[in-house]
Amino acid sequence: MQIDEILRRTFHLDEFRPLQREVIEHFMAGQSALVIMPTGSGKSLTYQLPAVGLDGTTLVMSPLKALMKDQVDKLRALGVKATFINSDLSRVEREKRQEKMARGELKIVYVTPERFQKPEFLAAIDRAMKAVKNHGAGIVRLVVDEAHCISQWGQDFRPEYAKVGLLRERLQNPPTLALTATATAEVRADILRTLHIETAPTLSLPIARPNLAISVDDVSGLDQKVEKIIEILPNAGSAIVYFSLITTLHKISETLRRRKIVHVLYHGDLPEKIKRKSQEDFLNGREPVILATPAFGLGVDKPDVRAVIHAEVPGSIEAYFQEIGRAGRDGKPAQCVLLYDQDDVTIQMEFIEWANPDGEYIRKIMSLIAGNEARFRQEGADFLREQMSYFNKRDYRVETTLNLLQSWGILEAAKITGELTDELWNEDLRAARKRHQQEKLLKLVRWVNGRSCRPQSIYKYFGEPDGERCGICDNCRARDRL
Ligand code: ADP
Ligand code: MG
Repeated sequence: MQIDEILRRTFHLDEFRPLQREVIEHFMAGQSALVIMPTGSGKSLTYQLPAVGLDGTTLVMSPLKALMKDQVDKLRALGVKATFINSDLSRVEREKRQEKMARGELKIVYVTPERFQKPEFLAAIDRAMKAVKNHGAGIVRLVVDEAHCISQWGQDFRPEYAKVGLLRERLQNPPTLALTATATAEVRADILRTLHIETAPTLSLPIARPNLAISVDDVSGLDQKVEKIIEILPNAGSAIVYFSLITTLHKISETLRRRKIVHVLYHGDLPEKIKRKSQEDFLNGREPVILATPAFGLGVDKPDVRAVIHAEVPGSIEAYFQEIGRAGRDGKPAQCVLLYDQDDVTIQMEFIEWANPDGEYIRKIMSLIAGNEARFRQEGADFLREQMSYFNKRDYRVETTLNLLQSWGILEAAKITGELTDELWNEDLRAARKRHQQEKLLKLVRWVNGRSCRPQSIYKYFGEPDGERCGICDNCRARDRL
């Protein structure tokens, strides 16, 4: 069946979104690829449609257990034979599904990465591959969703993802699709290496944002920052002012209020209700200015943000690009100004310290949770912070530790379900992570002090091919004046 026909008949969709057709044709033709498309742009279809069109089974690895059932339900409703296998299922149910997979009765099987450690699952895979001789096609495609989790350097690193190369060999190296929303050149290389893929093209939508005018303004001290902010605030549309520290956010908010500049606030220490109200008022245009920490922005899709101002340096080029990406979604001109005070770099350096707790600290948190499950369930991180004699407002080791434990799969539903092995976290790993984060910060600082086209050097950082300089950033304008 032609892919257009499958699109209509099975998926009941009229047309492909950008890049979907290219990826689908490539993958169906038996080629591997790294696919980078933003969240919501329709990555799932790029493997679901080929799975329907091909003989055999497509194995999809995903870390998001919660989304699996949903995806499978949707596929089943469309008449596609799909299932998922993860730890939420009873043993009996898992075995039943594994047997179906082994017999080649399924088109799409979603699995979590920890399945690869389970002998019973691996045995089912081996049976599926052996069955090829007699009937069916076996497992003919591998898909790695949220592939950035493979990379040691990502915040979302999953140790089990590191073993996917071995699994791929066991499947006799089928054509493989690795999908993610963002990846630096470094993370891309990491993904291919871990998958044992020598070369494969990256298929991505252009990341260029030609309507953003980026500039860096040197400032010293809060007063200068306030003056600049007032100067930059647009007459029409809205503006986001980003801060690293909640204390700075409040100080500047006070000054702005005295100067009669209305605005709302958004940061992690505000009650849910206030945060929700700030976000709503900003999104529907009732409030044109929001002062926020990076906690604000995920999923914010407001077309007419005319300025994104950074009152303090972010920690990496990725973070910066993601945050300014909220400006000018309507394609009309927008301004992105980074107010650079050299002293602010130390804030980020301190963040890196807190982001990498030592093993002793992590074990202490684990035993606190294990020994006080009820209280932890009720009070959450607050309880832990109180117990860990939390003096410094910027010490967010508790949050980091909880995130790490969750990503390692040893904290589930407020329960400790595993041990902190040396493989998960050791002194070398911790040091390597820290060094890596410091290097990212250094790259941002170099970019700040650099003299080449601002967006071009960002695209280069993401491994994009060279393009023309933007002509509207501070560096391009300075060059044109010469
Ligand atoms: P991603 O994984 O890239 O974040 P999804 O694959 O979950 O995105 O898709 C997001 C939404 O877009 C889904 O609701 C999906 O049904 C829809 N979608 C995907 N492709 C198309 C298309 N060609 N036409 C219409 N809707 C689509
Ligand atoms: Mg997805």
